[in-house]
Amino acid sequence: MKNKNIGFNSKLIHGGEFNDALGSATVPIYQTSTFKFDSAEHGAACFAGESDGYIYTRIGNPTIHALETLLAELENGFGGIATSSGMGAVNTVYGAMLSQGDHVVSSAAVYGPSRVVLETYYKKFGVEASFVNTANIEDVRKAIRPETRLLYIETPSNPTMEITDLKACCELAHQHGIPVAVDNTFCSPYLQRPLDWGADIVLHSLTKFINGHADIVGGVVIAKDKELYKKLRPVMVTLGFNMDPHQAYLVIRGVKTLSLRVDRAQESAIKLATYLENHPKVAWVRYPGLVSHPQHELAKVQMDGFGSMISFELKGGIESGRILMNSVKMAILAVSLGGVETLIQHPASMTHSKVSAEGKIKAGITDGLVRYSVGIEDVADLMADLEQALEKV
Ligand SMILES: *Cc1c(COP(=O)(O)O)cnc(C)c1O
Repeated sequence: MKNKNIGFNSKLIHGGEFNDALGSATVPIYQTSTFKFDSAEHGAACFAGESDGYIYTRIGNPTIHALETLLAELENGFGGIATSSGMGAVNTVYGAMLSQGDHVVSSAAVYGPSRVVLETYYKKFGVEASFVNTANIEDVRKAIRPETRLLYIETPSNPTMEITDLKACCELAHQHGIPVAVDNTFCSPYLQRPLDWGADIVLHSLTKFINGHADIVGGVVIAKDKELYKKLRPVMVTLGFNMDPHQAYLVIRGVKTLSLRVDRAQESAIKLATYLENHPKVAWVRYPGLVSHPQHELAKVQMDGFGSMISFELKGGIESGRILMNSVKMAILAVSLGGVETLIQHPASMTHSKVSAEGKIKAGITDGLVRYSVGIEDVADLMADLEQALEKV
């Protein structure tokens, strides 16, 4: 980029590396699988990494490169590796950092498949995992073993909205020579930049806030330095987790309005969280922006805003949740988060309806728990929508 010292909003518009011979003002879609070499010697130089010419889209592509360099700048990292999905990013990190006999300490409340893949596939290859409440630093300390090779954190956690102290965890891990990876999907780099707190790797499901329009699935891994970048990138390339140029184009388009979208959504979120907290049919609300949140003070330090994800517990358990789901008119009944449209989900009757009672407790899912991802609609309409639906509960 031309100027590393420009502000976050300016980076959203002008960040990333892209130049083409035609002087395109925006990044076009390079919808090609392969690239022509100028000569045999040029081909040899590209393969040796001595030329920055493109070879083949799984290895690299100008549209994807523009996105990777932009996202790396937003997270204050060295380089980005775009993937076909958030899970592609998760597996790029696990695949690069873990070998047979290694151990990983992970937040217990990570995104479900990030845990499942460790408990199934990586276990099969001799990798062990401990899942602890990383919001409690003593639990992390106790879980560290001589063979621990990765600390994997998600904060705020989903759906419990607990906050892990990134600075404290990175200091502890580094005392043991353990690198730290943070899934920053819930915050986006606009609200939290884990590398600035000492993390080594950041990853995202771009499907959520960064793209923000619920129209693609994608992921990215960002390494803090060249050494880690060179360790991570070949995993994406050889396991085939690459992004498609059209996907990259849509994310570049979507991310331009990241701060505008997040500002609007979190302005509404605090109003809705306060409204819910005072509602007689709601037992409790978890939102980092509420003074009642147990880690409100830590959130104020670590995050630049409180985000737009709200968890709340309805009185009356499963049946109340089901009625609410079937009564909302504006909020869309769907999984995922971080889009311009407000989404609502009741895990006990929907995503986790076939999960055992023990499994639900492990995942922090109570019977009346509702997840609400605030979009950018008029807050008065969202509140009226909840009001009429809660009346029926
Ligand atoms: C959605 C999500 C993922 C997985 O991303 P996909 O794009 O669905 O593969 C990983 N981590 C978090 C926190 C998520 O919300």
